[in-house]
Amino acid sequence: MAKNTKDLHFSSKVIHVGGEPDKETGAIMPPIYQTSTYVQSSPGVHKGYEYSRSHNPTRSRLEECLASLENGKYALVTSSGLSAAMLVMHMIGAGEKVLCGDDLYGGTYRKFTTIFHELHDFDFVDMTDLKALEAKMKEFKPNFLWLESPTNPMLKITDIKAVVKLAKKYKCTTLVDNTFLSPYFQKPLDLGADIVLHSMTKYINGHSDVVGGCLITSSKKMYDKLWYLQNSIGPSQSPFDSWLVLRGIKTLAIRMKAHQENAKKIAAWLEKHPQVDSVIYPGLKSHPQHKIAKKQQSGFGGMITFFLKGNLAKSKKFLSKVKLFALAESLGGVESLIEHPAIMTHASVPKANREALGIHDNLIRLSVGIEDVDDLIADLEVAFKSVK
Ligand SMILES: *Cc1c(COP(=O)(O)O)cnc(C)c1O
Repeated sequence: MAKNTKDLHFSSKVIHVGGEPDKETGAIMPPIYQTSTYVQSSPGVHKGYEYSRSHNPTRSRLEECLASLENGKYALVTSSGLSAAMLVMHMIGAGEKVLCGDDLYGGTYRKFTTIFHELHDFDFVDMTDLKALEAKMKEFKPNFLWLESPTNPMLKITDIKAVVKLAKKYKCTTLVDNTFLSPYFQKPLDLGADIVLHSMTKYINGHSDVVGGCLITSSKKMYDKLWYLQNSIGPSQSPFDSWLVLRGIKTLAIRMKAHQENAKKIAAWLEKHPQVDSVIYPGLKSHPQHKIAKKQQSGFGGMITFFLKGNLAKSKKFLSKVKLFALAESLGGVESLIEHPAIMTHASVPKANREALGIHDNLIRLSVGIEDVDDLIADLEVAFKSVK
């Protein structure tokens, strides 16, 4: 047995880091400290907890677990993925320059271009193209790099180590949104990134019953500033939601394995399907950055994007015929979801940008769940037959 739960392997950490039995009662599950305030024995004398916007023991347990899973020192749990991104935007000094990957999550794109554009300068570049990235860095002189890998929905893979090397050369801070892979398949801090962000709404919680976010870093300076901002602005997560995530995260390793196993089979099946134009899945040899994915990730995840042969009408019909795949936004839950990025998740991205990125009307995104894969394939086949 490892001396410390932090020295355990990943599948043990998800259960035991932050998951120790309650000291007071021996309860094997952590209590939900559903409290706003804490009694002090004399003014200013307390047990580390004063007010739940600042700290809460249930949330602290989750933060301990997340920091350990990402191999970071500190974690901060927020009320949503977007509120985690907001804290980072406030951490960056006014007037600084943020260079982002060019197919960011739609909500992040909207936040940057319609809200924080008054505080910072933003620019976008295809981060999979290191030459284009360096040229842009020379011209734009960013202070901060923001990237997702794989991206959403095009599943482009950025060589994080190579980007961090450039970031260091030009004295930039690097943040990686690791939502699509979870720390089970990718650990950006190990690859040199300064901050990791998650929408815990997705794989980390994994049960589509919580909206939440988190930030993980090993820099005390950044953590202190982010915590100060969280406490001052207020987007802390509720104790009950933190407890739900602590419950969901216990199966993260086993879920990610199952998501990937199903996604690999479905991607291979789609690639051979006569009604499919092309399939994007980082685990396929045909994926343009398959080699980088293999090098920096320990797996390829559960997201698949594919182009149906046909137009918008056919895509809409296809999407209305699936039964097991639920037509819904979001991703990363145990149940399979299907969606149409151009109409749904990426509607906030201007049409011209969408088209330039390849988000056409026949593009369909799957979040492959952990049901029996034969049932999932049969469900898709019914939809294909309906648009033949
Ligand atoms: C969902 C998502 C977000 C936003 O998170 P919320 O929890 O919905 O606020 C950010 N980044 C990525 C990649 C996402 O998928």
